[in-house]
Amino acid sequence: MTAVLAKNSPQSNEQAFAAANRASLEKYLKSNHPLSSLAKKICNQERLDRQDALTLYASDDLPALAALGDFVRKRKAGPEKANYVYYIHNMHLNPTNFCVETCRFCSYANPQEREKAYTWTIDQVLEQIGHGVSLGINEVHMVGGLNPACDINYYEEILQAVKNKFPNIHMKGMTAVEIEYLANLEGISYEETLKRLIKAGLDSMPGGGAEIFDENVRSNMAVKKAPAATWLEIHGIAHQLGLKTNATMLTGIGENTENKIDHMLLLREQQDKTDGFMCFIPLKCYYEGTDIAPEVEEPAPTTLLKDIAVSRLLLDNFPHIKAYWIQLGEKLAQLALSFGADDLDGTIGEEKITHAAGAKTPLQLAKEKMEALIAEAGQKPVERDTVYNIKRVCDHEPQVLAPIEERLQTLSA
Ligand code: SF4
Repeated sequence: MTAVLAKNSPQSNEQAFAAANRASLEKYLKSNHPLSSLAKKICNQERLDRQDALTLYASDDLPALAALGDFVRKRKAGPEKANYVYYIHNMHLNPTNFCVETCRFCSYANPQEREKAYTWTIDQVLEQIGHGVSLGINEVHMVGGLNPACDINYYEEILQAVKNKFPNIHMKGMTAVEIEYLANLEGISYEETLKRLIKAGLDSMPGGGAEIFDENVRSNMAVKKAPAATWLEIHGIAHQLGLKTNATMLTGIGENTENKIDHMLLLREQQDKTDGFMCFIPLKCYYEGTDIAPEVEEPAPTTLLKDIAVSRLLLDNFPHIKAYWIQLGEKLAQLALSFGADDLDGTIGEEKITHAAGAKTPLQLAKEKMEALIAEAGQKPVERDTVYNIKRVCDHEPQVLAPIEERLQTLSA
């Protein structure tokens, strides 16, 4: 006998939600729409392949890409959290800006400016974090240059000192590039390096240093650090040791569409194996202080929105996609929340790396501003911790939005 679902039962709510979500794709499912076969594949939860991703990037139907990205975001979130957009109250900490590498897109560790290089003492680190703690932060995002003066003991001391003084602060730190560097500096394995840092207080890892995995682009940009296999291996080991991590992709450094798709597919493959990535973060390069601008194409805002939508669709095993407001700017980050992103990153405190290269976004956003930005973008602001436990669902009511076609016109205004 077929069971009749009670009105308002959890199952009936879920079915109604799934039906309404599918209805949002109605016009793209019709066989006369160029993306209809892809829309059907997405509705049927079939995994997209490289050719599908190429088709999505080749489409200039931004409202369709937004609808598809938003559909998948909502399906992954489920009825209760369908319009949740997350942020964290955090600060960035860069204990040293000296770096032995000379990646051409990096003006943070600019060799011409090495006389300005700094390395903080443990006391200076604690003072910086103390300031953040007084503002109520709950995460420190710590990354820095590759500095032989900052060996594994230095980072162990930092982590232990922070945990002693601020036991409730989550320490997200050390990119895979830094782990590779420390392991080579100390002559120990990646696993041993990670185990020591975890013991000292490392709680999770950021996604930086992935850049673009393609070897030609990396070689043109003089990137010698952690190639794809090493970056992925280190994240895999971290996952197996119980650390959650993120993953980034840097664009505007001479990559093409295929390079971006292949980058995402390698991340998806790693996630299938070790399942420890929380979030994918597409980044764009800023050029101030570098000499690469004449030879690369700066990604257009529409391309950045496509990166968000395609990543949401291709990375079916990644829980979250981030619209990193500090790079996108507030308006584009808000639009990205209609293309599949469900995270706006953090309040950040002082950010040095993108601002060293010319980003003009404010250096921090107060929590209230962050929440207002999310609500203005038609979503429910939710304060989270690093690993996406919900700390607070904010009171702001999501605003009713103009159609996406109208909102996209602001890009050309
Ligand atoms: S991108 Fe990282 S590894 Fe490359 S020069 Fe800058 S700080 Fe050093």
